[in-house]
Amino acid sequence: MITISEAIQIVETHCVPLFKSSLKPIEKAGGYQLFSDVMSPISMPPFRQSAMDGYAVCLHDGLTYRLIGEIKAGDSHQIILKKGEAVRIFTGAPVPDTANAVIMQEKVTVKNLQITLASKTTINHNIRPVGEQVKKGELALKKGTKLTPAAIGYACSLGIQNVSVVKKPHIAIVTTGNELVEAGNPLSYGKIYESNSKMLQNALYNLKFYDVTIHKVEDDYAKTRDKLEEVINENDLVIISGGISVGDYDFVGKALEALNVETLFYQVKQKPGKPLFFGKKEDTVVFALPGNPAAALTCFYIYVYIALQKMMGKNEVELPRTKAKSLSNFIKNGDRPQFLKAIYHHGNVEILEGQSSAMLQTYALANALVYMPENVSKIEMGNPVEVILLPA
Ligand code: AMP
Ligand code: MG
Repeated sequence: MITISEAIQIVETHCVPLFKSSLKPIEKAGGYQLFSDVMSPISMPPFRQSAMDGYAVCLHDGLTYRLIGEIKAGDSHQIILKKGEAVRIFTGAPVPDTANAVIMQEKVTVKNLQITLASKTTINHNIRPVGEQVKKGELALKKGTKLTPAAIGYACSLGIQNVSVVKKPHIAIVTTGNELVEAGNPLSYGKIYESNSKMLQNALYNLKFYDVTIHKVEDDYAKTRDKLEEVINENDLVIISGGISVGDYDFVGKALEALNVETLFYQVKQKPGKPLFFGKKEDTVVFALPGNPAAALTCFYIYVYIALQKMMGKNEVELPRTKAKSLSNFIKNGDRPQFLKAIYHHGNVEILEGQSSAMLQTYALANALVYMPENVSKIEMGNPVEVILLPA
């Protein structure tokens, strides 16, 4: 049995960026990272653009200009101005080549076909030059940039329709257990509703991993082996729920061994989640999480989360941690370090009831886990504790 920090270290070492790209329509690329540099296909703005509603002028010594026309946004006609002439212009409209400043309409008085400026102005005032943001052929967005809404807007403003992004992993979730019944069916004696697959799928969706399939297998050695062989061949990451413990009907370990999945660790000194398995077959990463729902979810947050971040080439791979003041008392049984369901709020943390690995009732309220190290046997109200913040 290894320690939590050893297990985290092993996950970090063995999960590497996928280095696969996929071409995405820009509107579907949100949240992805750019796989390669994006060069600008145009200069932005593509023409000298008015930054104001007002008057474009060809500067001369006086303050009065003769009005000779109008250009609104989207117009493409040229007006040739001589010194002392002006055209009415609007925000976003092309400034004539012969104009060298735009005056805000608030700073102008208009009389007949003449405008008079309140004061002198400087050359190129209120004119956005061609390529002010980026010039044609220049680097627009760097490889590795996360595509935020602003980045998508910027790419769209350059007329970009598709981008090459870092591919996210294909992920399979496999549940095991003869006792599991899908919602919508009656619960006969001895059965429970299956919850881990949709819970883990949602944990993945929440982190913006959408390429997730769900598979179910009975507690049967041959079926487990065959199903695992299939999903390991077809996915970058396989998350198995249950069947990894030491019971007579836990076949996952045996099946993984038969499939030559390399064991990188099995069993971690922690509560919940002691029977956690982590391994690899070629490039496919395999986690077998304990079936108890709260243990499965905690192992997801502490270990699978890191694997996902590493696969996406991130530097910050663990969930954020902070210190907080405990609002609760808690006594630990046994010497394993423990992750406790908790609610964190402004520097305080409440440790919840129902810490059993089988129970999700209070986990449903939690936004954090309190980490209780091996050498700490009790937490008293007011004690400083370490808190792991769960993804919102
Ligand atoms: P196991 O790890 O297979 O021994 O399962 C431990 C406990 O978790 C048992 O009580 C199972 O019934 C329960 N369990 C396993 N898988 C699931 C699941 N997918 N949904 C809900 N409970 C589960
Ligand atoms: Mg089971």
